[in-house]
Amino acid sequence: MSQTDKPQRAGAVKQITSHSNPIVKEIKGLVAQRKHRTQSGLFVAEGLKLATDAMAAGWGVRYLALGPEARDNPVAQKAAANAKARGALILEVSTAVLAAMTRKDNPQTVVGVYEQQILSAQDIDPSGATVWIALDRVRDPGNLGTIIRTADAVGASGVMLVGDCTDPFAVEAVRATMGSLFHVPLAKLTKDQFKALAGKWPGTVVGTHLKGSVDYRTPDYSEPVLLLMGNEQQGLEDDMAAACSTLTRIPQVGEADSLNLAVATGISLYEIRRKHLEL
Ligand code: SAM
Repeated sequence: MSQTDKPQRAGAVKQITSHSNPIVKEIKGLVAQRKHRTQSGLFVAEGLKLATDAMAAGWGVRYLALGPEARDNPVAQKAAANAKARGALILEVSTAVLAAMTRKDNPQTVVGVYEQQILSAQDIDPSGATVWIALDRVRDPGNLGTIIRTADAVGASGVMLVGDCTDPFAVEAVRATMGSLFHVPLAKLTKDQFKALAGKWPGTVVGTHLKGSVDYRTPDYSEPVLLLMGNEQQGLEDDMAAACSTLTRIPQVGEADSLNLAVATGISLYEIRRKHLEL
């Protein structure tokens, strides 16, 4: 290990030149494996926009790696100063080291390692909420990230992950949120916790279902709304559908069996929030 590669205290600036530096290996592990993200409670988000969003929303930051281009960029310098003030270790690295960290040939010039934030069932307070979106066993990270981004756009109160879901802190999911991850509360619930919450939910509990008998444009959607979406392959299980007071369907013509999960969520959310959204 060279002098510059020795571990240092947080809040400092460190130059890393070696691909085998332990911090580079740690970040690679966070990118590649859910196990490492879960054990450490950390995750990787690529790009200056996400770094700026994370700082603005006050998320904990462990490392901020800056490539050569970022070191001349005033916005990146501001993000780095902000991160450093919060105790992060600023890493000055080459493009090759960034590529090794992120396992990409064309890496972003800023890569951050942040502390995960996820609520549990008891943290969810429906009073004053607009709409919470509950995703039953969502599998696709791109769908999850797109839904978080759309939830942000319509002013939703949060997204619940019910049962065995894809990791919201996987790089692909984080990337698809385009920074909204840092602005939309996320919660993790078991199926039983969801059913208990739905049973005492003070507003509308609506599930979307291919066998729904109600056109999605007709309910009153009195807030707070709890919107339940089914798994990409299996849809909603019967007991989950039974936890909803209304099952809505989005009309389709043509030969498609169903809509993509993120598209169906977006269409439903815009209808639910229609009266509250103005240009
Ligand atoms: N094969 C699955 C099924 O039988 O339900 C398809 C699931 S679909 C890809 C994923 C989820 O998106 C569904 O569970 C439902 O919540 C929602 N969805 C998709 N198309 C829909 C539609 N036309 N009406 C209502 N919900 C829809």
